[in-house]
Amino acid sequence: MLGVLGGGQLGRMFALDAARLGYRVHVFDPEANCPAGQVSAIEVNAPYSDEGALKRFAGAVDAVTYEFENIPLRAIEVIAELAPVRPRGEVLHICQHREREKNFLAARGIPCAPFWVVDSAEELADALRAVDGPGVLKTAEFGYDGKGQMRVRTGDDPHEVWTRFGRRRAVLEGWVDFTHELSVICARGLDGATSVFPVIENRHTDHILDFSIIPSRVPEAAQAEARSIAQGIVAALDIAGILAVEFFLSRDGRLLVNELAPRPHNSGHFSLDACVTSQFEQQVRAVCGLPLGSTELLRPAAMLNLLGDLWKNGEPAWDEVLAEPDVKLHLYGKDAARLGRKMGHICVLADSADEALRRAERIKASLSSA
Ligand code: AMP
Repeated sequence: MLGVLGGGQLGRMFALDAARLGYRVHVFDPEANCPAGQVSAIEVNAPYSDEGALKRFAGAVDAVTYEFENIPLRAIEVIAELAPVRPRGEVLHICQHREREKNFLAARGIPCAPFWVVDSAEELADALRAVDGPGVLKTAEFGYDGKGQMRVRTGDDPHEVWTRFGRRRAVLEGWVDFTHELSVICARGLDGATSVFPVIENRHTDHILDFSIIPSRVPEAAQAEARSIAQGIVAALDIAGILAVEFFLSRDGRLLVNELAPRPHNSGHFSLDACVTSQFEQQVRAVCGLPLGSTELLRPAAMLNLLGDLWKNGEPAWDEVLAEPDVKLHLYGKDAARLGRKMGHICVLADSADEALRRAERIKASLSSA
């Protein structure tokens, strides 16, 4: 019995792949009828602060993983006394906090955007001078998909910005003039063996992932470097599980790490349909101490996120999508479609990444105009 903290779509796809390997999954999520609970053997709903519920959960499973970063460290500590948590709590502690994550990277000489930690209008004033141009202010904690972020630049009034930002401890990052956003999903087993998925090229719209294109169309040297940086980070963090590393490829050809996530990643969904082993199966294998699977890409692919915006006139008619050859539809079982909410995704398989992307773009245009 595998325990998963968080019951969103990442937990759902984990549970489906775990079930295929013969495991039963026990989901812990504060909200009832969560996407993962619908396909798991057991769903329990309680807040992450309910230590009694956490202990009962931990006592009922053989190993625990998570699909979501904003879990209080205390919850992990309570569980870890009764069941192994993979990746371990210290990894989550680093990756759930932008400041700790940046400091971890900087201390190891891993390239990332220049940054300054700010905790007052005065510190922000210094950082705005130092950034010397445009930047982005990001909350230290609980940010995702561009939430808790604000564009700023040298010359802005630090007091006005600090008030508007909500006076929260933050990281000011220099703006990166990038040509591509890339991600690399890496797995590390209990024995320290690592494996890397093909490098993914990502396109965001309004800060939310829109398309992922695989293999990425950047020079092979940049791809090899991205894979090697990701493997270095997964080893430095001493992870048993999955790590997603997001990168910017700057116009002058440098790879800069943007963010780490110690779990499967939205950009890795293509692996369900396009790789020998999916990122979710790899998570199961890593967490259970099994040999890691092959990450070979069987066909080029493009993934399109299906956001709640497409539900403006009710659930889209899927017939056209389903009638397309080499297109796979994934829906997450969420009943309330809100703007920007991830409701599902589509994976298009083709003979080249360009062709897969063209077809995914056509599908998006057709669904958006319906
Ligand atoms: P994040 O939540 O940090 O992944 O940021 C969301 C998106 O905002 C990224 O995927 C980029 O498109 C953009 N972004 C964030 N930070 C920067 C930066 N320092 N320079 C340029 N674009 C950024």
